[in-house]
Amino acid sequence: MQKLAPYSADPQHSRGRAVAEESPAYRSEFQRDRDRIIHSAAFRRLEYKTQVFVNHEGDLFRTRLTHSIEVAQIARSIARVMDLNEDLTEAISLAHDLGHTPFGHSGQDALNACMKEYGGFEHNLQSLRVVDLLEEKYAEFPGLNLTYESREGILKHCSIPNARHLGEIGQRFIDAKQPGLEAQLANLADAIAYNNHDVDDGLRCGLITVEQLREVKLFAEQYQSVISMYPNLDNRRVIHETVRRMINYLIVDLVETSQAVIRDSGVQCIDDVRAYPSPLIAHSERVLGEALELKQFLRHNLYSHYRVLRMSKKAAKVISDLFDAFLDDYRLLPEHYHSLSAEMAGDSLASLARVIADYVAGMTDRFAISEYRRLFEPGELT
Ligand code: MG
Repeated sequence: MQKLAPYSADPQHSRGRAVAEESPAYRSEFQRDRDRIIHSAAFRRLEYKTQVFVNHEGDLFRTRLTHSIEVAQIARSIARVMDLNEDLTEAISLAHDLGHTPFGHSGQDALNACMKEYGGFEHNLQSLRVVDLLEEKYAEFPGLNLTYESREGILKHCSIPNARHLGEIGQRFIDAKQPGLEAQLANLADAIAYNNHDVDDGLRCGLITVEQLREVKLFAEQYQSVISMYPNLDNRRVIHETVRRMINYLIVDLVETSQAVIRDSGVQCIDDVRAYPSPLIAHSERVLGEALELKQFLRHNLYSHYRVLRMSKKAAKVISDLFDAFLDDYRLLPEHYHSLSAEMAGDSLASLARVIADYVAGMTDRFAISEYRRLFEPGELT
């Protein structure tokens, strides 16, 4: 059994589940959360959802599924060395992107624009909606009925107007308080994962180059040490060596800084962590600046590359055309949604729009594309 720090999340003192259940026989409450997430349909769909590159662009690029697994790997390594709860960290990491739309951020922006009049669309809030409501599998409750701690971790960001409707789980956004350390950790592991794998994927597809990246300190230092140690190493291996050293550099900094911050804070339990005025899992100022430089580099050179922007443009059109067609006539939705939508349409347009947003957000990239063809291309079978 892992020895846990007193300020870690303790499954025996969880704030519990919305619907009370008997404790599992051989697993902790957080292991059960993790297992339910893995068995969810939303988790399987992550395989065919874009991180940056659309799934059909190549088999080697990260998808939202492999991204989530990389986040879990990084977060679990750190949780173990810091004596935080590894099972909870893993559950949060694997679930953090469940609410993402197809086509990455452009999909989310497009759906948010479609939902402007009807309460908007936030992917993080949608992840919570998936585990609280949209997974329909269990006899006794809607959703996955996860513990408070997993739900708290999944809801990373939330606008204040939305937080007001969420009760206890939304209160920390109103009070500007923190979640537990496992949640803070999964959040930073997410950034470590995507910054580094986007460098790797970006180089692989040639949208960014090593020459450009040598202007970025975080990359340049590790790259320099690899090529001086291994002057004849083949290019792909140099890149992989560099990226793995960047990840390690960030993890070591995060562990060392966080341990010192936690020590100085004097927190004794998870409620102290929640009440503390600032996050306790953190990078040093210096490394934070370097990570930010890399992030800005990727924003300017990769996410704004014309080839990525063209794909985003198409994605936005697919999402908004589908949404508009369904809102215009909900009978175009698959039959399963009809009874739900008929009730909703009678209720309010906002409720119908929410049903449609749930349907569209749940789509994989390839399903959204074929649904688009079925609806708008005359030659296509319906
Ligand atoms: Mg993520």
